[in-house]
Amino acid sequence: MTKKPPPWLDLSAPLSDKVRSQLCPRCRQPILRALVGHVAALDTRADPKPLTPVEELIARLQGRWTYCLRIHPALPPRLLNRGPEHIRAGNCRHLVVADHHCTRTPAPAEPHTAPEPDRLF
Ligand SMILES: [Zn+2]
Ligand SMILES: [Zn+2]
Repeated sequence: MTKKPPPWLDLSAPLSDKVRSQLCPRCRQPILRALVGHVAALDTRADPKPLTPVEELIARLQGRWTYCLRIHPALPPRLLNRGPEHIRAGNCRHLVVADHHCTRTPAPAEPHTAPEPDRLF
């Protein structure tokens, strides 16, 4: 039985490791969002730009996590944790993406001069 979710429920939260693309609320860049990992799934925001091995190395040196973006013709895309074993195995043919790190300067959009009034009722 499916219940309609209450309207206050934040449906932007990812419920699985299925990748959704959305805009970063801060810098308005497109990002990929998914839960990564099965034990303590991490709410992950990643840049949708595939990395070359060198770019991945640079990203990791910057302290960013990288993920495999698994794209399968019959399945929804998923973000997979890219553990050292997986990298060392050397036969990974996934696209590699890195954590989204916000650019410090927020995009010049939506002036916040007129905040939404509280409209709970
Ligand atoms: Zn992989
Ligand atoms: Zn951002």
